Amino acid sequence: MGSMNLVIRNGSLITPTGPLRTDVGVVGTHIAGLADELRGTLEIDAGGCYVLPGGVDPHVHLQMPAGDYVSSDDFASGTIAAALGGTTTVIDFVEPEPGEPLMEALEKRQAEADGKVAIDYGLHMTIPAWHAAHPASLTSLSDMIDAGVSSFKLYMAYDGFRLTDPQLLDVLAAVQDAGGLAIVHCENGPICEYLRSRALDRGHTEPRYHAVTRPPRQEAEAVSRLIDIASLADCPVYVAHVSCQSALSRIVAARARGDVVYSETCPQYLFLDQSALSAVHGERMICAPPLRTAADRDALWNGLRRGAIGVVSTDHCPFRAAEKAGHPDFTAVPGGVPSIEARLALVHDALDDQDMTLEDWTRVCASRPADIFGLSSKGRVAVGLDADLVVFDPAREMTIEAGKTLHERVDWTPYAGICVRGWARDVICRGELVVDDGRFVGRKGGGKFVPRMEPLRREAPC
Ligand code: MN
Repeated sequence: MGSMNLVIRNGSLITPTGPLRTDVGVVGTHIAGLADELRGTLEIDAGGCYVLPGGVDPHVHLQMPAGDYVSSDDFASGTIAAALGGTTTVIDFVEPEPGEPLMEALEKRQAEADGKVAIDYGLHMTIPAWHAAHPASLTSLSDMIDAGVSSFKLYMAYDGFRLTDPQLLDVLAAVQDAGGLAIVHCENGPICEYLRSRALDRGHTEPRYHAVTRPPRQEAEAVSRLIDIASLADCPVYVAHVSCQSALSRIVAARARGDVVYSETCPQYLFLDQSALSAVHGERMICAPPLRTAADRDALWNGLRRGAIGVVSTDHCPFRAAEKAGHPDFTAVPGGVPSIEARLALVHDALDDQDMTLEDWTRVCASRPADIFGLSSKGRVAVGLDADLVVFDPAREMTIEAGKTLHERVDWTPYAGICVRGWARDVICRGELVVDDGRFVGRKGGGKFVPRMEPLRREAPC
């Protein structure tokens, strides 16, 4: 075997079938060899470390406008933080304005990201209510797929975004016709709005009423309704941010029937619970769906372990402490929490407690999201694929602190003070070293838009 540009030596490669002692060789931007005793121009000694495919986070919101606010990580800061945590690909969203053609909105969003991203990125296309009602938008879905945007974000909550049931049916049918995948925010918007206004009428303004007014069964109802409407359109669906046992049970039942239903959950649902909304700075923990109970948390881990939930994404959507604070009531607080940087480390740290393996870890954090969303050159370590690699040191201890050990552009984290064992040491994105011994050495604009192939549209063993 000829000489490589870069070789990761002596590491333990985490493969779908278990750890494998092998060197990993890179030529240019691709993985070129898996063998012992490879030699390269640059050699990284990964002794005592795991070598894994770069993390794939398929649900992030960087510099996302939200009412009077914009999420505080931009495409540069957010992707640098992601890289420092071992993530080499993120998928963000395009949110077209009313009347704005999808292609224009896509190009505008790409212009915001290109030249700033430090790692690779893809985009989901949001189909808000205005576009759902306009045939020209729905006939342009195949143009989106040709442009590498093969998944479509639909909302069952939030006025302006929320699709009516008939619109949901129409859009899911159009997604199916185009060969795409729908990623859906499942909450019953009208029920939530009603419960919120009733709470405010009663003077219930504190953050904990955020959870009270978005109860688990409205989420489960929306998941069920999505699954049934999707079956009318014969469209595969991916349920975003599953937060509770009752929603998960609808997914498990659908999968047992043979419906093609994928899903994700997020660190906030796996590591926190709704008591955080009643604690000091509870307003920071407002996100939707809301934090749930410890029993829900256990059910989600169980779903991940069994593969009913395939993915841990972040839904990273940071707002600063001052932006979260000082509102007259919980409905005025910008929603979302950060976790783009700590995702891999948090899940890794929980593996033993949750009876999960290193293979499970790389599956839910990298290979499964890559497979589901058509990132065909990413998510696993194999000759010919993109050289997106992480050298993860399982002995590196890190106490999570915003602004100190984390690099997210936000002055708080839900995970403050948690000490995890294991963190990404070196990170390679398409053959380029972007993190060297825990320091970012890449460059803004070093990442690029990744056109995605056809998404996974039938169930496969996972
Ligand atoms: Mn989201």
